[in-house]
Amino acid sequence: MSWEAVIGLEVHARLLTQTKIFCGCPTAFGAPPNTQVCPVCLGYPGALPVLNRKAVELALRMAVATGCEIHPRSVFARKNYFYPDLPKGYQISQFDQPLATTGRLVVGDRTIRIHRIHLEEDAGKLLHDSNSTLVDLNRAGTPLIEIVSEPDVRSSEEAAAYFTRLRQLLMFVDACDGNMEEGSLRCDANISVRRPGGPLGTRTEVKNVNSFRYVARAIEHEIERQIGVLESRGTIRQETRLFDAAANETRVMRSKEEAHDYRYFPEPDLLTLEVDDAWVASVRRNMPPLPAQRSQRYRSEWSIPPADAEALVATRDLADYFEAVVSASGNPRLAANWVRNEVLRVLNDRNIELAGYRVTPPMLGELIRMVEAGTIGGKIAKEVFDEMSASGEGAAAIVAKRGLSQISDPAAIRSAAERVLAANAAQVEQYRAGKTQVFGFLVGQLMKETRGKAKAELANEILREMLTSASSE
Ligand SMILES: [Zn+2]
Repeated sequence: MSWEAVIGLEVHARLLTQTKIFCGCPTAFGAPPNTQVCPVCLGYPGALPVLNRKAVELALRMAVATGCEIHPRSVFARKNYFYPDLPKGYQISQFDQPLATTGRLVVGDRTIRIHRIHLEEDAGKLLHDSNSTLVDLNRAGTPLIEIVSEPDVRSSEEAAAYFTRLRQLLMFVDACDGNMEEGSLRCDANISVRRPGGPLGTRTEVKNVNSFRYVARAIEHEIERQIGVLESRGTIRQETRLFDAAANETRVMRSKEEAHDYRYFPEPDLLTLEVDDAWVASVRRNMPPLPAQRSQRYRSEWSIPPADAEALVATRDLADYFEAVVSASGNPRLAANWVRNEVLRVLNDRNIELAGYRVTPPMLGELIRMVEAGTIGGKIAKEVFDEMSASGEGAAAIVAKRGLSQISDPAAIRSAAERVLAANAAQVEQYRAGKTQVFGFLVGQLMKETRGKAKAELANEILREMLTSASSE
């Protein structure tokens, strides 16, 4: 009898604000340790927090994008625990009255329900070396939203797909930069296994699944571990486990704490957060278009095939780039092909982001227009494109410098064809004898003779005509 995994995900996303959630300290990543701190985020006695309106605004965008119910009143609470990266001795979060509840996220052909979205502050960061531990509190007080799913995810692949979707959405609404290396997105997974249709099993929480690669791997390992325990008649203990990517296993971190361990109580230094209808309406009005809306427009307005339209909205940067190429080239279909195939290939090969890519949309637009005008053929265009990607030079300049313009002068093609026929008398003989398969070979030779610049249809036509007249002589 098989097992079924039951997985819920908690994703923490750092909100794209200039300043922290309860003070005016900057949130920029990578500053020297403890240079972006003040009495509020250091937790000095008597310092009072003031809520950052922009953080609420970004959280609301995500709540709208996931179809959540937004609560007109929500309450900040103190989550009490001791850890050296938490100077106040408590984290300000939201507990029993969160900002938003009951949303959803469509992942492939399934809908994963969102349990809640709430606002909270991040803690600082501990830096360990061989014989000491240092604390950097620049991150303390950085605004986060925690997005908690219902336990609707059924496999490690689906968990990774959910995480990918959520990241895509966060980036499209400008709520989070999605930067995994800098820890802008962190994911914890609650995992249990059960017999299909049976009662829920005991769950464990796996921390440190912070990359797309690890999400699937960490969850897969934990599912297998739990099945192993249960099949040898052991019991699963409720605990928090850490994924060790190097050892490829999850390990016990601590026994799982319950909500009451945190002694939550309403934060006395902050007012109830009130979000009225007018605020929600203005968030809706100013919402950037979502990936689904953009891909829908590509299909309906520009007749882009669904799979391409979907791929082109993988990130907001890519969608923006594609749309800019469409306006520069005036040809959506060709723009879609070039961006999806060639641009993504180069980015992938060189492991670079669009932001650092040399071929700008106007440059790619120029190349596409040259192909459309017949100045260069498809094969040469790809060579020119590779050179553009390498040197950052424009298409017209490369074509002029290397003399790559397509040959569409019949006389020039005819004289090249004469040379090819003279040099390949045996094949010409075969063709005349009825072995017409050699035609492809001769076309290849002609293209070689013209260094790939002969206009293909014209080259075919002229060559066939010359061979036919030759055989009839
Ligand atoms: Zn501060």
